[in-house]
Amino acid sequence: MHFTQVASPSAMPRDKLSPMPLTYLVSLHRSGCDVMKAPIATHVLPAHASFDSGELVIAGISATELAKKFGTPAFIIDEGDFNARARAFNTALKNAMGDRAGHCYYAAKAFISVEVAKWVNAAGLSLDVCTGGELEVALAAGFPPSRIEFHGNNKSVQEISRAIDVGVSHIVADSEIEIERINEIAGKRGVKQKILIRITPGVEAHTHQYIATAHEDVKFGFSIASGAAMKALSLAKSSANIEVAGVHFHIGSQITGLEGFDLAIARTIEFLAEVKQEISEELAELVIGGGFAIAYLDTDQTIDAKQVIEHLAGIVKEECAKAGLAVPLLSIEPGRAIVGPTTVTLYEVGTVKSVELEQGSRNYIAVDGGMSDNIRTSLYDAQYSVALANRISTSSTRASRVVGKHCESGDIIIRDCELPADIQPGDLLVTPATGAYGRSMASNYNHLPRPPVIAVRDGRARVIVRRENYSDLLSLEVASEVASEE
Ligand code: PLP
Repeated sequence: MHFTQVASPSAMPRDKLSPMPLTYLVSLHRSGCDVMKAPIATHVLPAHASFDSGELVIAGISATELAKKFGTPAFIIDEGDFNARARAFNTALKNAMGDRAGHCYYAAKAFISVEVAKWVNAAGLSLDVCTGGELEVALAAGFPPSRIEFHGNNKSVQEISRAIDVGVSHIVADSEIEIERINEIAGKRGVKQKILIRITPGVEAHTHQYIATAHEDVKFGFSIASGAAMKALSLAKSSANIEVAGVHFHIGSQITGLEGFDLAIARTIEFLAEVKQEISEELAELVIGGGFAIAYLDTDQTIDAKQVIEHLAGIVKEECAKAGLAVPLLSIEPGRAIVGPTTVTLYEVGTVKSVELEQGSRNYIAVDGGMSDNIRTSLYDAQYSVALANRISTSSTRASRVVGKHCESGDIIIRDCELPADIQPGDLLVTPATGAYGRSMASNYNHLPRPPVIAVRDGRARVIVRRENYSDLLSLEVASEVASEE
């Protein structure tokens, strides 16, 4: 099955169905030759964003107002859209699995803050964290530990201890050393900790190699094919302070087709059948990770949560029937597909420079952020759309490249695009779909303070993560005493 191009109707206000006036968008095809002048497609923007008034407006607030009030660069998150997308996945799982629905975990790594953790909790989802830091954010938000799953391929003794002390529901074990650690720490506390064994079903997900996670030569999990998964399971089963709840896999991120999931589910259920033979027990839980793709370009497809989860649930039931197994409790871990499309980054243009090339020239448009707020272009060759956000230009377009302010020539946000030739310092640019792995992967490279996150809803905007400042950066410095002459 392939994802179909449908913007979830439930998350889409009626006004988004009308055609939008032309602004300038660049579909960032690497060749640079198939870029086209077009409005940013509705399905790439947050649900309550549009260019209807001639400039970008999100939840009733214009880009100019947002920039004036909160400065740039800034991440603007459409709170209503986040809630709708989170609830859509949760409902889809419940409807598709009925009493076999496990947890719909929101993957905190995509983006988490105390406020976002509160939204996730209010929407009734569970939370997947993969470090002690993410766990602390969840706890600070009052997120119930009984709905927290703890991941990571190298969890420290302190992290495991804290997770067990606060009572997280599941820890996902990623190595034999971790199984031993969990067993020992749980033993000292006199508890039996529920774990999931992370397995690698040997699937090559169709995505960038750095975000594919379930082939054989990878740091995550235990291979089914090599026998490591069965060995880990036996170790865990023989550990007095561990309860093996089930197995977990996650095949990668930004996966555009479901074939990889289908295969991973089939191999995992085959493995569960072998487990049954080996230990005469059926494992009760199966987590199939996240990884559902979102649209970054107008030509990208977007997914319908209901359709995708119904399909995957169907495969699980079908494979269990074939293997003669009871259907396990099924859990999912979407991150990007919930938060990614809800957020845009607003930048202000600082300089514009025309660079002569062998064939023609290119406008280098430098904005006030860069690889410190969006590393994905440099890291994964990710492609984004971009548009002028504060006005409509009637100018012709020019081959352009949107770059940041860092001291790296690889500091590129959008490699090849067409933007109006009259873009000038002070103009605002918007890059949509930056909610996932944008602010969460942000750094202080070149000592740039990280941008704020502004939540917008029903004509109101509020800061949910404030902008860093130079004092924040300097507050980490421990100056050594200057040695005096005497
Ligand atoms: N679960 C696990 C174990 C992951 O590693 C990730 C991301 O890498 C996710 C869920 C979320 O993936 P996505 O944001 O693509 O849905």
